[in-house]
Amino acid sequence: MVTTRYDLSRSELSELLEGEPHYRVDQVWDGLHAQHREPAELTNVPKALRNTIEELLPPALTPVREVKADNDKTIKQLWQLTDGHLVESVLMHYRDRSTVCVSSQAGCAMACTFCATGQVGFDRHLTTGEIVEQVVRAAQRSGERRVSNVVFMGMGEPLANFDQVWPAVERIHDDLGIGARKITLSTVGVVPGIERLTQQDLPVSLAVSLHSANDRIRNRIAPINRTYPLRKLAEALHSYRRAKNRRLSFEWAMMAGVNDSEHAARELATFARPFNAHVNLIPLNPTPGYSTPGTDPESIIWFQDVLDSLGVNATIRANRGADIDAACGQLRAEQQVALRGKPIRRKT
Ligand code: SAH
Repeated sequence: MVTTRYDLSRSELSELLEGEPHYRVDQVWDGLHAQHREPAELTNVPKALRNTIEELLPPALTPVREVKADNDKTIKQLWQLTDGHLVESVLMHYRDRSTVCVSSQAGCAMACTFCATGQVGFDRHLTTGEIVEQVVRAAQRSGERRVSNVVFMGMGEPLANFDQVWPAVERIHDDLGIGARKITLSTVGVVPGIERLTQQDLPVSLAVSLHSANDRIRNRIAPINRTYPLRKLAEALHSYRRAKNRRLSFEWAMMAGVNDSEHAARELATFARPFNAHVNLIPLNPTPGYSTPGTDPESIIWFQDVLDSLGVNATIRANRGADIDAACGQLRAEQQVALRGKPIRRKT
């Protein structure tokens, strides 16, 4: 694999630029990270060094396409990686914040039936640099509006790629300057990953894509549940809570007749209450491989009221980017894109 611009740690960059004084390495590092600059824009370092950086550290992401929605407040960016795989990230502007949703893998192995990425299958893990660069690109694209939040809710399962994801989280925090609580890892329930997260110091936010608090149903819609059933998931989350004292949130994409009954709300309440967890109700977005319709809007509000009466705090997530396939679970990079005249095929 090619080493790309954000793949190196600070000390590796320092080795690469052997002979350069410390302060120069710092200028390059800060320019690339804190200031989101392109090598050519590092005007405080000599031109020869700018050229060296340009040559030795090519970008990981080549822009393929950009699509906007919601009055330009949602911007989906499609990228090609150096080996041809395609990934997406989504920049979302809100009144009080700007959030980038990043991918952690090309494809996903979790195979959740209702998720577009899960329907495509797994290509490969992203590297730390490929993840960090998505945030830098979003910050560049965002211009005057500072990217304040990062959510790992794009393609892939971040906790199945912990070795690359965690250094990316640290870099996003330490070098891009985004607060730990404003970085959210979202997992379908990869228990070993939650256990590793429990060992880390940085108090990031954790969201768990629960969708059902019933093993029989969850086994069907989120197959990882067959390996880590609800009881195991709950154990891992209890240890996490004890160690970190951080609020948890549960995501619940509302599928008609699957997880939207009063009984389902009671199961959810029983599961969520011990964690004092916040529940995010997500209107289901249609995907090519899942025909069950989403719960209608009135019934989502009813479900929220039932949860409320059971003492569980729930909000209904605004559905950003649904018309550009950038909403949750719809990030499915096109199978084929003609770029530089060459069709790029996914492995099957
Ligand atoms: N693998 C991680 C992160 C990516 S998914 C995870 O599962 O959490 C980000 C969120 O979108 C998850 O909560 C996921 O369950 C949800 N999602 C997936 N498909 C969806 C769909 N079709 N409609 C609404 N939400 C969906």
